[in-house]
Amino acid sequence: MLDLIIIGGSATGTAAAVYASRAQINFKVIAKDLGGEVANSGEVGNYPGFNETNGIELSQKFNDQLKYNKVEPEVGVEVENITKEGGVFKVQAKEGKSYEAKTIILATGVRPRHLKVPGEEELYQKGLSYCSTCDGPLFKNKIVTTIGGGNAALESILMMSGLAEKVYAINKNPEFQGEQVYIKKLETLDNVELIYNASTTKILGDQVVSGVEYKATSSGETKTIETNGVFVHVGIIPNTEMVKDLNVLDKGGFVEVNNLMETKLSGFFAAGDVVNLPYNQIAISTGQGVTAFLTVQSYLNKLG
Ligand SMILES: Cc1cc2nc3c(=O)[nH]c(=O)nc-3n(C[C@H](O)[C@H](O)[C@H](O)COP(=O)(O)OP(=O)(O)OC[C@H]3O[C@@H](n4cnc5c(N)ncnc54)[C@H](O)[C@@H]3O)c2cc1C
Repeated sequence: MLDLIIIGGSATGTAAAVYASRAQINFKVIAKDLGGEVANSGEVGNYPGFNETNGIELSQKFNDQLKYNKVEPEVGVEVENITKEGGVFKVQAKEGKSYEAKTIILATGVRPRHLKVPGEEELYQKGLSYCSTCDGPLFKNKIVTTIGGGNAALESILMMSGLAEKVYAINKNPEFQGEQVYIKKLETLDNVELIYNASTTKILGDQVVSGVEYKATSSGETKTIETNGVFVHVGIIPNTEMVKDLNVLDKGGFVEVNNLMETKLSGFFAAGDVVNLPYNQIAISTGQGVTAFLTVQSYLNKLG
């Protein structure tokens, strides 16, 4: 039986795995893919040690470091359920794969929340995207629409205003909620049209996105915008469905941890974007991955 299974092959998983390898414990990394949201992060100018890099390059560096430390992650493994019986964690994945370990570090991150309106699934990657840093450059000199009212939407508007000919920004609330610097900047952009109190009802298009339909909440009137691209930024969902029966999640579905990355279930640890702590950043995720491993090590030492 393994001492540790690290689930997730991105920033958090890599940091924990490098420490686990150097500590020479009996462990495995399993992940749906290597790179996770780091690979989607576009330009990265705030990760220590790099003046400027990008998500693809940084995730490649993470993979190189795994190889250097002789860690061979099992990729393409999608974990569906985790149970604990008699002090042993059983990890079940798609295609009947299963694993057993004394401890788990869950590092499965988050995914973007969907609008759940007609046209969204059909037009995904046909003009509709959840990542403006990844796909924004495809819409140079085009008309785009952002949907959302928080920091991610604000960042998307600011980025797209510098690239696109025109940006429509649909916000279902009467104001933006996010960093004041971003909100102030909005007022200075003359190619951005802000549409408040508007609830998106449909993404329009046949083969590719051609428009967005929304309802003005005050009048109930339905309106249409012609657009080439849509960027949806309406929140995130933690990838924690596989542990919903372990009683370790908060109301929002994030794993509840203390500052040692321990959950209330002995032997079960979590780190990175998937936990209920503030600020989703790569540097924070790697730090938490390290903390999680060091806590696992001390836990295993006590098990004897
Ligand atoms: C558009 C965008 C731009 C960003 N820009 C920056 C930036 O400039 N600077 C910065 O510091 N941060 C940035 N971030 C945040 C950063 O990407 C995250 O904080 C970081 O990726 C979190 O790392 P993680 O390892 O916790 O999760 P992730 O990177 O999301 O990795 C999750 C891992 O878990 C795996 N996984 C998920 N579900 C399962 C499952 N069921 N079974 C098995 N494996 C699973 C995935 O395959 C993946 O390997 C950005 C994020 C986005 C979306």
